[in-house]
Amino acid sequence: MYDVIVVGAGIGGIYAVHRFAQQGLSVAGVEGAPGVGGVWYHNRYPGARVDLEGIYYSYFDPELYRRWTWKERYPSQPELLAYLNFAADTWDVKRHFRFNTWVTGATFDPATDRYVVTTDTGLTLECRFLVMATGPLSAARQPDFPGLDEYRGETLLTAHWPDHPVDVAGKRVGVIGTSATGVQVIPVLAPQASHLYVFQRTANYSVPAHNGPMDPQRHEEHVARIDELTHQCLHHPGGTDLPLADGPAASFSPAERTALLERRWAYGGHAMGTVFTDQGTDVATNELVAEFVRQKIRTVVARPDVADKLIPTAYPIGTRRLCVDTNYYQTFNRDNVTLVDIREDPIECFTATGVRTRAAHYDLDLVVFATGFKPFTGSLFKANIRAADGTGLSDLWARGPVTYLGLQVRGLPNLFIVNGPGSPSVLANFFPTTMQQSAFIGDLIAHMAAHNHTRVEPTEQAQREWTAHVAEMAAPMLRYKTPNYMVHVNDDGSRAFIPYPGGFDRHARKCAEVEANGYEGFAFS
Ligand code: NAP
Repeated sequence: MYDVIVVGAGIGGIYAVHRFAQQGLSVAGVEGAPGVGGVWYHNRYPGARVDLEGIYYSYFDPELYRRWTWKERYPSQPELLAYLNFAADTWDVKRHFRFNTWVTGATFDPATDRYVVTTDTGLTLECRFLVMATGPLSAARQPDFPGLDEYRGETLLTAHWPDHPVDVAGKRVGVIGTSATGVQVIPVLAPQASHLYVFQRTANYSVPAHNGPMDPQRHEEHVARIDELTHQCLHHPGGTDLPLADGPAASFSPAERTALLERRWAYGGHAMGTVFTDQGTDVATNELVAEFVRQKIRTVVARPDVADKLIPTAYPIGTRRLCVDTNYYQTFNRDNVTLVDIREDPIECFTATGVRTRAAHYDLDLVVFATGFKPFTGSLFKANIRAADGTGLSDLWARGPVTYLGLQVRGLPNLFIVNGPGSPSVLANFFPTTMQQSAFIGDLIAHMAAHNHTRVEPTEQAQREWTAHVAEMAAPMLRYKTPNYMVHVNDDGSRAFIPYPGGFDRHARKCAEVEANGYEGFAFS
């Protein structure tokens, strides 16, 4: 019997195990992969790299900062995986994990206030607290195109890329999906393939990363002011110290606006998402930023007809995750790359030799699916977590996720989620969010031990009020009004925003307040 079982050995699971072990709890980790890394273990497709700068995308631990220097401004998957192994080894957490083990079920026993956790290896474990650190974007969406079974070529999912080199040389390759993953894999496959066909359903906004080697001086400066940097990131809505907007667009002259937009474009990446304070809420300001990016795309793409297809018009900029790329639009100037607009000419089916659209057939040796994940709930539902009466998370969340602080769900006592729905999740940097949430959970468990409590779940009122607060924060946002994976849509058309859109800093402050007020909103017994 363990005090805590942590499911997942990604960014969240590594730190959670470390934090709980450090405070003297008995901890077991369970992970399906053979090693640590989570999404950075599985997403090893060519070009995979993080779209936040490595100096922020790190555990806020002075010792780790001093001992690790990122090679690139935006680290690649191999470097990220090496870093997560380095952190896990430094903290000696691997010994707590059962690798190659998938959780198949977890049922709460109210007689003992424990979870009985079953796995696909036959191993059964028991714990007082179950902590899900399975990540919001880890369960890949399986492609289900008609005729896929007939296709005799090779297929690969970016989210489960093999760990051996894939030979693309001389092959006719198709990529389906042009979002955050697609924009990374496409420019890397194009120079290797004999021909690359990009099947685009929705054109997305992508901003250049301006990646390059990490400046050693910048690293030294960072290490020297690590305490200050940590403080800044912990008080930033995104958990980074990326520049924030100075004001609404209307407060700047046209020349000032252009200068601001150019400066952010030159900085690169997500800095483009916060040029003006009102770009996420005001249609006209949003259009100003969107049009600036569209013009940039036009200057890069040589053929106007291809540029027309690549230019996003279907949604306001930033309402779906902004993509960050290296040479994405430039790739479409290559002679061996064809953009297939499947909005205009939809895929009808796969055939034995390739993909048939309404108007054409594409012969393909390899098809790469960059088609995304079952967001937020995919991995949580897969773990089949249930109360004693059989009620599962999917029943409790039939009309979209409801939580208290994103950390707990009424009806499933002693279950905690790290980076779950209702927390900043995909809207903030996972490293500080993970650390703050793990510390909160660890302290709450210590509080329970000190007061002889064995069971905790949110009150009905606290959960209702937090869910209403998430909805209230989301209501003015264009992101809430636009179809995207952050919005749960019910059959009757009602909508619920899934992650907490109020910012990491605000979420962390609320957690601190709750703790200071004796864990208000949690019912102990
Ligand atoms: P995604 O954003 O869900 O995009 C999936 C893509 O596949 C979209 O272009 C989508 O088109 C297309 N697609 C899905 N089903 C399709 C179908 N049946 N037919 C044709 N096209 C289809 O997935 P993702 O690109 O993997 O990104 C998911 C998230 O992962 C990102 O938001 C980000 O949070 C994270 N991510 C981060 C990084 C990073 O840090 N660098 C890199 C990659 C991913 P539609 O848009 O038309 O649906």
